Amino acid sequence: MSAQDPAIAQDAPAPAPDHLRVLIVGSGPAGYTAAVYAARAMLKPRLVQGMQPGGQLTITTEVENWPGDASVQGPDLMVRMEAHARAMGAEIVTDTVTRLDLSARPFLAECDSGARMTADAVILATGAQARWLGLPSEQMFQGFGVSACATCDGFFYRGKQVIVVGGGNTAVEEALFLTNFASKVTLVHRRASLRAERIMQDRLFAHPKIDVIWNAEVVEITGDQSPLGVTGAVLRSTTDGTTSTIAADGVFVAIGHTPASELVRDQLDLREGGYVWVHPGSTRTSVPGVFAAGDLTDDVYRQAVTSAGMGCMAALDAEHYLSALDAARA
Ligand code: FAD
Ligand code: NAP
Repeated sequence: MSAQDPAIAQDAPAPAPDHLRVLIVGSGPAGYTAAVYAARAMLKPRLVQGMQPGGQLTITTEVENWPGDASVQGPDLMVRMEAHARAMGAEIVTDTVTRLDLSARPFLAECDSGARMTADAVILATGAQARWLGLPSEQMFQGFGVSACATCDGFFYRGKQVIVVGGGNTAVEEALFLTNFASKVTLVHRRASLRAERIMQDRLFAHPKIDVIWNAEVVEITGDQSPLGVTGAVLRSTTDGTTSTIAADGVFVAIGHTPASELVRDQLDLREGGYVWVHPGSTRTSVPGVFAAGDLTDDVYRQAVTSAGMGCMAALDAEHYLSALDAARA
């Protein structure tokens, strides 16, 4: 029989998983910062990037609050963070962790590619994902007029009218960005005040292409079936319940994000909303040796710089944990 015989291949034992000191899951500001610190602590970290290498900042344009840069493009900043982590010696892998077993030591991770690895410590930095309104019509028109990413899809709305739903920084940023393409942008918000930063609100209110509809919820997205496309939205007043319709060619949903905690949902303590619980003032989770950083654990600040700060803390916490583990084993 040749070495390629399928029978032999089937019987061959699966290769032993690589063993790591530290596995970092996620490639946003938290993950890359953890990688820089862990690499400089000579822990030879491996970072698995996930489906969105660079994380949420790769879907935005100008970032004006990253210290040291008065203005930097989000994707450029993340390319620099990746290069920094590599330069310090971190191993960066383009793959997605599909299963984590935190019940045994060492911890076991399985990836989309079939790769398996064990690790003495795990830093979770899987961030957050866009939240949707949950309407059947929203789902029907997703990719055909409904989007959660103006940077990705804004270009398709040159000279057209769009709606942005939400009242946070993301919604205001998306609305402003869309004025580069659209003829008119209508921001629809369910309350009478925005939670976006003051400077962003001032820019929004001053923009001649932007209208704001207060105290209104989108209850249906209307459109054509053939070809599939959006024609507008039905709004319901949150003050008196009356409904109205507005015309639009696109609807951008910008109502926040949900923490990406599915991998560990049944294995770690979570807080309300699915955020990973950590010991106050640290990144230690309910399982010793597992650390969480960034938007995955933070429902308050949710900034690039705070995520990066928590990534730093996670690497330092992991380093202390591993030193204690080594001392106990000696
Ligand atoms: P994220 O950036 O969310 O990255 C999560 C990472 O985890 C991704 O790389 C993803 O691929 C990976 N991942 C997820 N699941 C897996 C898995 N199973 N296996 C492997 N990897 C996985 N903040 C600011 O400070 N300034 C701004 O100007 C600003 N602008 C923003 C604009 C927009 C449109 C958005 C959406 C957010 C903005 N934010 C801004 C917020 C900022 O982007 C986040 O706070 C920050 O990116 C969070 O970093 P993070 O590392 O926790 O996670
Ligand atoms: P966010 O601050 O949580 O705001 C979400 C907005 O969507 C809120 O206004 C909320 O309304 C509204 N909303 C939530 N669910 C809704 C629903 N079902 N229907 C209608 N409206 C709904 O989220 P975000 O704007 O994505 O920002 C996330 C984090 O990233 C924040 O910490 C933000 O500061 C940060 N960020 C920073 C920048 C920047 O610094 N330039 C840019 C983007 C994001 P209510 O107000 O009524 O709750």
